[in-house]
Amino acid sequence: MDGLLIDGKIEKDRVRLYYLLEDGKLIEWVDERKFYPYFYVPFELENEIFDEVTALGCSVSSEFKKNLFSEKEDKYLKISGDEETLGKLEYRFNRVWEDELPSIIKYAFERNIRFGIQYETFGKEYTPLEVEDHYFNESFGNLIDKDPKKYYYVKKFFEVIEQPMPRITEDVAKKFGYDKDRMLKAIYLSRITNTPLASKRMPPSYFIKALYYISLKSEGYIIPTAEEFAKGESSRGVYGKAALVITPEKGVFLNTYVLDYESLYPSCIDVYNLSHETVNCGHSECLKNSVPEEKHHVCLLRRGKYSVLIGALKDLRIKYYKRRGKDGDIRAKIVSDILKNILVICYGVTIRIKGLANPSLAESITAYARNALKTAWKIALEEGLKPVYGDTDSLFIVNPESKRVQTLVDRVKSELGLYLAVDKKYKVCIFSKAKKAYLGIFEDGKIDPKGLAAYKSSTPLFVKKVLKETAIELSKIESADDIVRARERINRILEEREKDILHRRFEVEDMGFSVILHKSPQEILNSNVNAQSYQCAIQLIDAGIRLRRGQTITFAKVKPFYYRGNRFTVKPINFVKKDEINIQDYISNMYTMMAQILEPLGLGKVSTRNQNMMLSNWFE
Ligand SMILES: [Zn+2]
Repeated sequence: MDGLLIDGKIEKDRVRLYYLLEDGKLIEWVDERKFYPYFYVPFELENEIFDEVTALGCSVSSEFKKNLFSEKEDKYLKISGDEETLGKLEYRFNRVWEDELPSIIKYAFERNIRFGIQYETFGKEYTPLEVEDHYFNESFGNLIDKDPKKYYYVKKFFEVIEQPMPRITEDVAKKFGYDKDRMLKAIYLSRITNTPLASKRMPPSYFIKALYYISLKSEGYIIPTAEEFAKGESSRGVYGKAALVITPEKGVFLNTYVLDYESLYPSCIDVYNLSHETVNCGHSECLKNSVPEEKHHVCLLRRGKYSVLIGALKDLRIKYYKRRGKDGDIRAKIVSDILKNILVICYGVTIRIKGLANPSLAESITAYARNALKTAWKIALEEGLKPVYGDTDSLFIVNPESKRVQTLVDRVKSELGLYLAVDKKYKVCIFSKAKKAYLGIFEDGKIDPKGLAAYKSSTPLFVKKVLKETAIELSKIESADDIVRARERINRILEEREKDILHRRFEVEDMGFSVILHKSPQEILNSNVNAQSYQCAIQLIDAGIRLRRGQTITFAKVKPFYYRGNRFTVKPINFVKKDEINIQDYISNMYTMMAQILEPLGLGKVSTRNQNMMLSNWFE
């Protein structure tokens, strides 16, 4: 009966493998050939340590391995023994290689077995069944000559993904705590990365490491240590200028196209050959290939290992699985999602994850990404288009002629080697001067609010409703003339809502601000900070309500009162009576939260008439 290899366990010098049968039964199989976990140390070993190593029952052998950075072969000592002993020995050496790679992954590599694959014979090696696909050849055939190394990886991943997949029933999935789709997802992840199914709960960086490290190993390299990967540089603040955001032009715009770079960071890594060994490679002939706006350069002689790997995964996703997924192929959609999860962190890991981090590499990735946005903006202007806003990988263009958009896309493709495509079209789009905050309205009236104060999760429902009403008026805009009429109608809506607040025509529940408690109740009670969320928490605690850190609490703003000797301005929403609500606060809050929309429309000041009314109301 066929079994799917899902897990393995190292037991001293043997390995136990677990196969899943179609009926959900787990079969164990023990590899009788001895396997010892291992790591590498420098070839020169002091006699004293050598004696210690052998006395502990470990074996020592020498091996030639290539250095990723110099491409030179060096001799290393391989120390093999059971995991526990190795764990203790590790600290006796100044430098140790490959100690971080889990033993089960090394075992799978040495024995050429693959997790997530179905086998007729237990313990059998992975020999892929032939997979022929016309559409695959069509999509990737041109890579054979253009980028043979990438083609090799694309083909290898494709083969592994397309191996026969057993039928997974809901019952079997349930045994693993999954539903059917998530079980399939776990199996695909396992087969792509050759990690046991049980590692599903590891962080995403674990899988990039597994893929990258094994690909280096298979080419005869020793996996560099974390320090070597970082080239001895300690991490530095690359966040500040990481992504480029171009300040939007304030205003209301009709027919705005949003063009996106597809997978911008993975594409930069691939197209610009960015990898640990290629950034600042040290060849004098590569110095001229400098990174835009950075003091780095990139190798012209060697194809980067990280770039090839990320490039292959990206191409497989964009050119194959994503398309098939969109055509309704559910399994392709699952594979596309897994690849996306891996690709989405391919830049982040070069900043933060030990063993992948390299500050110069991270800076080069974002430098090319910023350059991509700037260049697209420049080309857009040259082509007579009107770009109004740019953020990281997207470019907003107002009322463009489609022929010119196509020219922009074509020029970006030929000048940068990157793909820009129309992602969405807004019928109406409003920008304030703030970055990362705008309101887009689609043709069908649906709204797409980004970073707006009026749409935050903490914002009272009352204000969200005002935003919605405003958006409905905006969605009626068909031409520039309509903007004036929309402004008038919106002004009227605001006056109405202001009156509603003044005359207390609202539900108390609609006035709640929701916030997450970031401190424990005890810390809140002990602090003398009087933040509104703390005021609310203290009153809840006093009322005998148990709170915990991370919990969301909701309060309303009320007329100031004294509590525990302090001036308080909020109460927990459930404690508030309508006539306690601080209407002055809510009116000004409504305008402040809506300012990002109102300002571009030339609205937004509280009228003096109402100011006076509010004051009299306040003192009554
Ligand atoms: Zn070079």
